[in-house]
Amino acid sequence: MKVTLVLGDITEQPVDAVVNAANSSLLGGGGVDGAIHRRGGPQILAECRELRVTEYPRGLPSGQAVATTAGELPARWVIHTVGPVYSPSEDRSALLASAFRESLRVADELGAQTVAFPAVSAGVYGWPIDDAARIAVATVLAAGSSVAEVRFVLFGQREYDAFEAALADVG
Ligand code: ADP
Repeated sequence: MKVTLVLGDITEQPVDAVVNAANSSLLGGGGVDGAIHRRGGPQILAECRELRVTEYPRGLPSGQAVATTAGELPARWVIHTVGPVYSPSEDRSALLASAFRESLRVADELGAQTVAFPAVSAGVYGWPIDDAARIAVATVLAAGSSVAEVRFVLFGQREYDAFEAALADVG
């Protein structure tokens, strides 16, 4: 697996699957989630509502992942995952790792070759970026996925630098 870094907007990535840092409701939110629904159009939300009626009546639990269409995005699928809210008093890093691992498991099921990830949990959910980057990079490299390229798409230079350092650390 090749791991690449891009400074930019995840909704503009021509990849097989774009990962959304969703919330449990699957019904939209701010940050990446808002951008994906805005740019991808109403078809994504329609499939999310359907998932709430069928598979996830109580919402998608933290650490899990599920796919929908990518609507009008230049991708085939959106893989929605829910990262944990950062807690300074409780170690939730296993849930953050699970969000990355489960997203790649869904990508493998779909046959996706290229997958773009945002810095899950490092926005509104408050995870310190250096730690979030370290967990993200280590988890995707250890996942044993058949995905050919994992592309981390970072929205700011600070986030990009954190991922570059995390990647350099693992050699
Ligand atoms: P969470 O609720 O999991 O923290 P957020 O969407 O608030 O998710 O933020 C996750 C990361 O995604 C943050 O680093 C944020 O700056 C970044 N981000 C926001 N919009 C975009 C976008 N369009 N493309 C890529 N990254 C984005």
